[in-house]
Amino acid sequence: MRQIRAILERERAGLVAGGDVALRQPGAATAHEKVDDDAAPLAEMEQVIASNRNRERAQRLAAIEGALVRLTNQPDTFGVCEVCDEEIPLRRLELMPWARRCTQCQAGDHPQSGGPRRHRADFR
Ligand SMILES: [Zn+2]
Repeated sequence: MRQIRAILERERAGLVAGGDVALRQPGAATAHEKVDDDAAPLAEMEQVIASNRNRERAQRLAAIEGALVRLTNQPDTFGVCEVCDEEIPLRRLELMPWARRCTQCQAGDHPQSGGPRRHRADFR
């Protein structure tokens, strides 16, 4: 799990270094500057995009912090799906080390929900 920690710390450092996307201050334009009617909605949209980006970044950062805490406090259960208790494939963890569910549970279906895999195993 050492490489997972390294990935998490690198991701976190990258997010912290990135900083918040600067939001344009409303009313930053000087009074005598003529406001272009066409530009106003665009600026508004840019602000929405920027704040969405900041929110996603904050959520990602929180997920990474949480994963680092879990990795420190419960290294034995780190990388185990919180839904089906199966180990999350290392390849998935390398891409998304903050993932708490395996790919199937994240997608909403896993073998325990009556998939054919388990029945075939029972047959042997
Ligand atoms: Zn699962």
